[in-house]
Amino acid sequence: KSFKNTGLHPVIEENIDLCGYEHPTPIQAYTIPAVLKGHDMIGVAQTGSGKTAAFLVPCISKLMGKVKKLAAPRPNIAVGFDPSREGVRAEPLILIVAPTRELCCQIFDEARRLCYRSMLRPCVAYGGAPARDQVSQLARGCDLLVATPGRLLDFMSRPNVLSLARVRYTIIDEADEMLHDDWEQEMLKIMSGGDANTDGDHRYLLFSATFPKRLQKLAAKFLAKDHVHVS
Ligand code: AMP
Repeated sequence: KSFKNTGLHPVIEENIDLCGYEHPTPIQAYTIPAVLKGHDMIGVAQTGSGKTAAFLVPCISKLMGKVKKLAAPRPNIAVGFDPSREGVRAEPLILIVAPTRELCCQIFDEARRLCYRSMLRPCVAYGGAPARDQVSQLARGCDLLVATPGRLLDFMSRPNVLSLARVRYTIIDEADEMLHDDWEQEMLKIMSGGDANTDGDHRYLLFSATFPKRLQKLAAKFLAKDHVHVS
């Protein structure tokens, strides 16, 4: 099996080539067609399985060519970054939440390679680093955001930094790691888009090494009944 003739956008096919991926890993072989068809999904997979590309490839492919229609009006960065626009809301179309800074940076790195020549602008946000740089990065425009939950909630609560109103895909990676005790409410808030008045089609992808009760509850609340379960 290859990545060719699977209904992926030609630009992402090229980016997959540039990444040096020739054949889909098992999780990719099942996940990519399911997400392209519009299914929500649960993926039980470990790091090293290729799960990052498994969720990035189909989401990016589906939104490619639709960015102009779905995204917020774009600042004209061709004439240089305008500092007066700092504080403008970022309105990502793809939201990826992961428990640690390291994991977020790995996902961001792969997202950058897969978003090449796509119009989708990836950003990353995590705690333990100054918020200022991340906020100004967001203000330049953000279509795909990778974030840790704490920093994400922080940005959602600030005026004019981040809105989840346009999110089309919410992906929770290593979900079991983020459902300890008091995080359940926070994850609910993130998955329901905060205070944003979301409209339109919103897909959910959950990835986790284990699938405990708490996660089953969250899945039942947000995922469509016909979601696909890959392990
Ligand atoms: P992950 O499980 O997402 O952390 O990916 C593990 C590693 O496999 C990463 O270094 C990826 O760049 C790489 N990888 C992902 N998909 C493929 C593929 N289809 N072929 C070869 N390597 C891949």
